[in-house]
Amino acid sequence: MVMMNQGALLSWYRRVERPLPWRLNPSPWSILLSEILLQQTQMERGIRYHTALLERFPTVQSMAESSVDEVLHLWQGAGYYSRARRLHALAVEVVQSHGGVLPEDYDSLLKLPGIGPYTAAAVASIAFMEPVACVDGNIRRVMARQTNQEEPSPTQVQSFANEQLHENAPGDWNQAMMELGALLCRPRNPSCEECPVHDTCLGRSRARELPRPKKIKKKTEQYNCIVRVDDRGLPELHQRPDTGLFAGLWGPEMGSDLGTEGCDHVGTIRHLLSHRELIVSVWKSKGKNGIDSETVALSTLDRRILELVGLL
Ligand code: SF4
Repeated sequence: MVMMNQGALLSWYRRVERPLPWRLNPSPWSILLSEILLQQTQMERGIRYHTALLERFPTVQSMAESSVDEVLHLWQGAGYYSRARRLHALAVEVVQSHGGVLPEDYDSLLKLPGIGPYTAAAVASIAFMEPVACVDGNIRRVMARQTNQEEPSPTQVQSFANEQLHENAPGDWNQAMMELGALLCRPRNPSCEECPVHDTCLGRSRARELPRPKKIKKKTEQYNCIVRVDDRGLPELHQRPDTGLFAGLWGPEMGSDLGTEGCDHVGTIRHLLSHRELIVSVWKSKGKNGIDSETVALSTLDRRILELVGLL
């Protein structure tokens, strides 16, 4: 097993560490929010949502006392809305079962709603200094290149991360590994000449080919969406069911076999989700009891639909 130079990587990390809000104010709640947001949201947007969420919900109690709708409202546009619903469920559970204090160890964190192995390890190591190794896409890429493997299995990546872990600085170490993947060991254009651990890197000469990309074929789904507009120019909006597409968010009527007789076709929107491509034919018709769309939580797709119809 290759052993990376821990000292070199940690001092590089401490030099380049970005002044992110959850690093400047590293409370466990702020760290947990950042880890949940950043899993599927780009850094810049993640920072914006993190600031807004922390301002409205400075503590886990304040989120537990709010409604899930309020959390969804602030989450609008961040995508993967089930994360917002589970975050609210987590806050309620922490208040009910842990006296409002986040549990401090990996195993207890893992039992909370919405917390998987990555988030539990990140929060336990960064907020509570528990020596547990994180694995994410960045670390998988660094591992594949350091060990010169095209398709490392999840178990191999986890063993690599466990073996490399710096036991006395687990939080900084995990962040250093992820920063290395994000800033230098980038997917297409790695900066090997600046890399603090290039001397142990067995795959450096063919880094761009490693790891071999996973092929994800997007499934295409077709929908009709009818925007019914009342006399005041406001759209009828309904809250979507608790499960399925955009659960709990609001939007105009949408379905795969929705009849559109008597409606006017406005246009078609192609909307990409992580594993799905949605083709939405947008229709308009007369309605009643419309509501102000700014008062409810909308997905990005629903915003695009309302924009297309000229209502945003
Ligand atoms: S030498 Fe290049 S490929 Fe290897 S870990 Fe560093 S940046 Fe990645």
